[in-house]
Amino acid sequence: MGDFLSSVMSTIWSTLKTFQFKDAVDIIAIALIIYYLLRLFRQSRAGQLLKGVVILLIAYGISAIFNLTMVNFILKALFEFAIIIFVVVFQPELRQALEKLGHNKTLKSIVSPNSSSSPGSNAKAVSDVSDACAVFSKARTGALIVFERDSILKEIADTGTYLNSDTSVALFGNIFFNKAPLHDGAVIIREGKILSAGCILPLTKTNEVNSDLGTRHRAALGMSEESDSVVVVVSEENGIISIAVGGKLIRNLDRESLYSKLSDLLIDGSAENSNLLSVLFKNRKEKKNEK
Ligand code: ATP
Ligand code: MG
Repeated sequence: MGDFLSSVMSTIWSTLKTFQFKDAVDIIAIALIIYYLLRLFRQSRAGQLLKGVVILLIAYGISAIFNLTMVNFILKALFEFAIIIFVVVFQPELRQALEKLGHNKTLKSIVSPNSSSSPGSNAKAVSDVSDACAVFSKARTGALIVFERDSILKEIADTGTYLNSDTSVALFGNIFFNKAPLHDGAVIIREGKILSAGCILPLTKTNEVNSDLGTRHRAALGMSEESDSVVVVVSEENGIISIAVGGKLIRNLDRESLYSKLSDLLIDGSAENSNLLSVLFKNRKEKKNEK
């Protein structure tokens, strides 16, 4: 036992002695790739397929142990084409993941610091949405408004009508007026502009939602579970204003609390703060001034 432990310790020690910085980078990169793949699998139909792959791997192991030549041969051939099969089967997920990567604001700010949207780009939208929701709440007008953040909502925006318009309280009033053609569905706001209206959102799959809440609130929750967006809902039945974020519903907001929550979520931690280079640059400048 003592011999075994000392040989394990000496193996670990000799590995650590040759450990270089690039090995740490290697390990972190692999850990990140596995983490994001698992997250992707968990969030999508890929989870079911992953179970299938695990079963095939077990079958492959069994066929090797019991020398089942034919089964082993077929499974081996299947695994040899695994990369191609993976790319074909997961094409939509891979495309979405690459799109997300391309639109990731932090990465964008590293690659081209000047290309990120201005920090104030959501400020007017947040103020207009807060004012409009206060009016809707009084008038019992139903509304559903999604603020896009890092997760790109192109596929959701495609289900509605593209407007590409500045925000205004009057325009929100027109959109959600209950005889207007676009009042059903959600408005998507991207970088402070109304991207699309009349959009269909995914409904939450959880059964833990209060039974008083109908499809509008379930759609808000579903959208906030499937993306990092911030969704504002106004109930047509009782005028209650809520925010859905990260799969949680914050209820009973008024104009001020809505404005302050939206500002925290969409303005304070926005572009300028996530611009890594500008943060580093700012810190260096501050240190210089201290000297
Ligand atoms: P309210 O409190 O306003 O009645 P609710 O949560 O009870 O809201 P419903 O009464 O079912 O929900 O509201 C239906 C409206 O919600 C629809 O007319 C439509 O505008 C909107 N809605 C329902 N499902 C979706 C969806 N998947 N995506 C976008 N909007 C939706
Ligand atoms: Mg209802």
